[in-house]
Amino acid sequence: MITRSAASVQTHWQEALSQVISDPVELLNLLDLDPALLEGAQQGSSAFKLWAPRPYVARIQRGDINDPLLKQVLPVSAELEHQPGYSMDPLGEKPKNQQAGVIHKYRDRLLFIISNTCAVNCRFCFRRHFPYDENRLNREQWQEALDYVRNDTEISEVIFSGGDPLALNDQRLGWIVDGLASIPHVQRLRIHTRFPIMIPQRITEEMLDWFARTRLQPIMVLHCNHANEINEDVIEAIQRLKQAGVTLLNQTVLLKGVNDTVDDLEKLSRTLFQNGVLPYYLHLLDKVQGAAHFDMEQEAAQRLVGKLAARCSGYLVPKLVREVAGVPAKTTLAPIMPDA
Ligand SMILES: *Cc1c(COP(=O)(O)O)cnc(C)c1O
Ligand code: SF4
Repeated sequence: MITRSAASVQTHWQEALSQVISDPVELLNLLDLDPALLEGAQQGSSAFKLWAPRPYVARIQRGDINDPLLKQVLPVSAELEHQPGYSMDPLGEKPKNQQAGVIHKYRDRLLFIISNTCAVNCRFCFRRHFPYDENRLNREQWQEALDYVRNDTEISEVIFSGGDPLALNDQRLGWIVDGLASIPHVQRLRIHTRFPIMIPQRITEEMLDWFARTRLQPIMVLHCNHANEINEDVIEAIQRLKQAGVTLLNQTVLLKGVNDTVDDLEKLSRTLFQNGVLPYYLHLLDKVQGAAHFDMEQEAAQRLVGKLAARCSGYLVPKLVREVAGVPAKTTLAPIMPDA
């Protein structure tokens, strides 16, 4: 194996980010897909832009309109249909967003909205209508967000969210992490990200350095939705994180047509665990306008998880959860077991 310097690796991820596929024509050509899909893709992309990183697109099966990875990135006209019961702010996050850059809904932990961009635009994204521009902070404003944490001694965990927090460079992230580490009651740092899946090169030496350096206990929650997303590069990124002492969890969004069979979920859990990642949450889709075609009925989801539980060890069965606005934690939904 060739040893790459930290600098060249970093260039690599930023380059990958700048070369993201954003033109539906290019995506369809690259994957040998029916040009009849173009009109829908352009319509969908006009509302929420196509944004698909090449290392991820490389894992999509050419010519397969039903590829579970393709469905997560290809815009379709169904996104523009207005669906009753689907809202612009399904999590009710606006009222909780009092301190800029902070979402504080649960008692001992809060979110830092670190970045307003992502490595990818997921078609089902629950934050596609979030007012990110109001949450773009400068250094002084980050200082205020840190003060907010300093002034509430019940906060023991800070969760980097977004957007995708790893869209920020390591120098800036390191600065915020150092600020948090200087607050005695903060014990854990959690990062929710799709970067290790989308652009695995994002796991740089520099990042591993600030993980190793901080006194905070690091946790990373990968957002992997399908076993096909996990290739050699992803596995290597996971291994490097583990070696740096990061606890790795995964959360999945349950998506119709992507991962809504027991075989898909079983394979995902087994592949994750084999590589040292523990399944944590399986989320029912947040009812956001434009993503209704991915949604599954709650009871069908509970039956699906029941089937999964009947097949594997308890630790391979993620908790089925739903976000209910105003409730002080995620709401867990019990599996419905198949008849014996
Ligand atoms: C999901 C979420 C968390 C983390 O909840 P856990 O159950 O600890 O994973 C924290 N804050 C907000 C606003 C959340 O939506
Ligand atoms: S990475 Fe997360 S926040 Fe970004 S588009 Fe995908 S689901 Fe939304």
